Amino acid sequence: MSRPRKVHVKSFGCQMNVYDSNRMADALAPAGYIETARMDDADLVILNTCNIREKAVDKVYSEIGRVREFKEAAEAQGRRMLIAVAGCVAQAEGPEIIRRTSAVDLVVGSQNYHRLPDLIARLQAGEKIVDTEFPAEDKFDVLAAPAPEAIAKRGISAFVTVQEGCDKFCTFCVVPYTRGAEVSRPVEKIATEVERLASAGVREVTLIGQNVNAYHGLGLNGVQASLGQLLRRLAQVPGIARLRYTTSHPRDMNDDLIAAHSDLSALMPYVHLPVQSGSDRMLAAMNRRHTRKDYLDAIARLRAVRADLALTSDFIVGFPGETEEDFTETLSLVDEVGFAGAYTFAYSPRPGTPAAEMERQVPVEVSTERLYRLQALITRHQRTFNDSFVGRTVEVLLEKPGKLPGQLVGKTPYLQTVQVMAPRTLIGSELPLIITGTGTNTLFGALAIERTAPAFATAGA
Ligand code: SAM
Ligand code: SF4
Repeated sequence: MSRPRKVHVKSFGCQMNVYDSNRMADALAPAGYIETARMDDADLVILNTCNIREKAVDKVYSEIGRVREFKEAAEAQGRRMLIAVAGCVAQAEGPEIIRRTSAVDLVVGSQNYHRLPDLIARLQAGEKIVDTEFPAEDKFDVLAAPAPEAIAKRGISAFVTVQEGCDKFCTFCVVPYTRGAEVSRPVEKIATEVERLASAGVREVTLIGQNVNAYHGLGLNGVQASLGQLLRRLAQVPGIARLRYTTSHPRDMNDDLIAAHSDLSALMPYVHLPVQSGSDRMLAAMNRRHTRKDYLDAIARLRAVRADLALTSDFIVGFPGETEEDFTETLSLVDEVGFAGAYTFAYSPRPGTPAAEMERQVPVEVSTERLYRLQALITRHQRTFNDSFVGRTVEVLLEKPGKLPGQLVGKTPYLQTVQVMAPRTLIGSELPLIITGTGTNTLFGALAIERTAPAFATAGA
């Protein structure tokens, strides 16, 4: 029998790319490809790329250089290795990638990866292919479903894309150009995917989308459903203990979604709500379509139904025209909200976006210095938030083995990572842990009740 062909998919960037990478591997499984963790050993290497910031693109090109060395070593041994570049860099740069690095065999856009089996078959004949046109068909209708073993290997917490693309056109952002217009998947197709995940052992599902709370997929009654309605449907799937969603836009934080936070016990009290800046002048220049007050109002509405809600955000510093005064308003917003954490970025001009053409670009030294100050403030808030848990008992979903022998790692409802000494049989259980201390990015816990068997298994027995 011939040796099975091996594929290595490497993801860059957001959770959406992690999901897409898994689906690429699923699409190739019926064509006889098995996944390998080793790039040097693969017959096909797929780099699933991100071009949200210039640094992310540089990383991709340096990675292509590294894969090229593996390809040359494989060829020296008489073995063929194919290299495919997928995702947002592929979408944005297209044929330029093959012009720059002839080692690349295939460039496949973010909406076309369902065609991978056919494209790879054509590569075998020695063709080089660029496929970045937005297709007429929906990739989700065509993609092979993951095998139960593949789901189990990926762990008890899974991402599910429910919405793609963006119509908001923030002036700094490439997403509307690389991912295209906003599209939502139908409720029942998502429910079927979640049911399949649950029956293979998944206990937590995070619904993902560039603008997830703008979700408006087709419901059973033929009427468009909101994200709140989708969450209500998924909360009924047996086995799913926890639901989350990300990333949201402040403008789309509607009453129905807020009500879901009060009604659904499976919906975790955590929201990632990017604000980008605390200055109304900057928010207008960014075309965010919300003010500082709108943002604070959305948070007040959320906290009115879930007082314990943890909030995280994204910030951009050094957007064109940002003054020290604007930046101070960002700092004051951080203090006013008390975030549990945040991602902070120095503005990176992206070709083709309006902000890249704006005057008064901020010098890199200024944005770097602001970035440090913002990060220091957010770290202080994160510490305060995490320290407030010491001595408390929290329900933790135990996800996987930790780095130390006998250790497991899990998540609190507020998405904090917790390390605990506990037997592996407890992976998949949601258990009360007493929080005994905090580290930089993690909490330490101890089992509140000694257990050796999975809690969900005993409860259902
Ligand atoms: N849709 C989400 C929203 O509305 O904020 C964000 C999606 S984007 C993939 C993730 C984050 O990358 C953004 O929130 C923003 O903070 C950051 N980002 C996007 N474009 C950027 C740029 N040109 N320079 C720096 N950061 C950027
Ligand atoms: Fe980009 Fe998010 Fe703005 Fe859409 S809403 S353009 S994805 S930052």
